[in-house]
Amino acid sequence: MKSIEDLLAGFDRFRRRYFEDDRSLYERLTRRGQTPNVMVIACCDSRVDPAIVMDCDPGDVFVVRNVANLVPPCETGGGYHGTSAALEFAVRCLNVQHVIVMGHAHCGGIRALLGDVQFSDGAGQFIQPWMLIAEEARRVALAGEHPDAETRDVACEQAAIRISLENLMSFPFVRDAVAAGRLQCHGWYFDFDRGDLQGVDPATGEFTPLAPATEVEHSESFGTLR
Ligand SMILES: [Zn+2]
Repeated sequence: MKSIEDLLAGFDRFRRRYFEDDRSLYERLTRRGQTPNVMVIACCDSRVDPAIVMDCDPGDVFVVRNVANLVPPCETGGGYHGTSAALEFAVRCLNVQHVIVMGHAHCGGIRALLGDVQFSDGAGQFIQPWMLIAEEARRVALAGEHPDAETRDVACEQAAIRISLENLMSFPFVRDAVAAGRLQCHGWYFDFDRGDLQGVDPATGEFTPLAPATEVEHSESFGTLR
């Protein structure tokens, strides 16, 4: 478990790595601004930081994280639309070419959706209505036959990713960019029980293993994305 002192020591190592050994990276990112090619929508879970999981440098990925990596439907009514704002900025201003919804195993938000988390003292007043975005995933998972609770959870986690992919297309600027061939949307699932990464096959809607990064040239890796 990291203390505040540990984090400050970590920042010192980061500063030495990126401001002394590789100063040019931040000079370039400052001078030219950020130009990430990829947006990732990931969960808040401390085990699934996309930049760490995909071994990225500063400037590589534009990330928004929320409980259970959900994309809400496009709504312009009252309220604060943090994920929608990040999506708008990534697609309309940064012109990213890929949006990845990255779910994961053992997601606490999904467990709350499935009723496996007991809240007390009023906790859950924001989590529960937020998770209603994936209500259909709960229904699908509970209607299916699963050998155990873990398999049911995986079904719900993956169904929620599919819902987020559908909701992405409810944003006109996403729909237009996809139709014009400027943007691809991907659904990924990080299974940290096994240490592997799966992607939604657009043809079948099923999750299948993605090519290991070690077998793909880094500069060409996104050519294999699903
Ligand atoms: Zn999660």
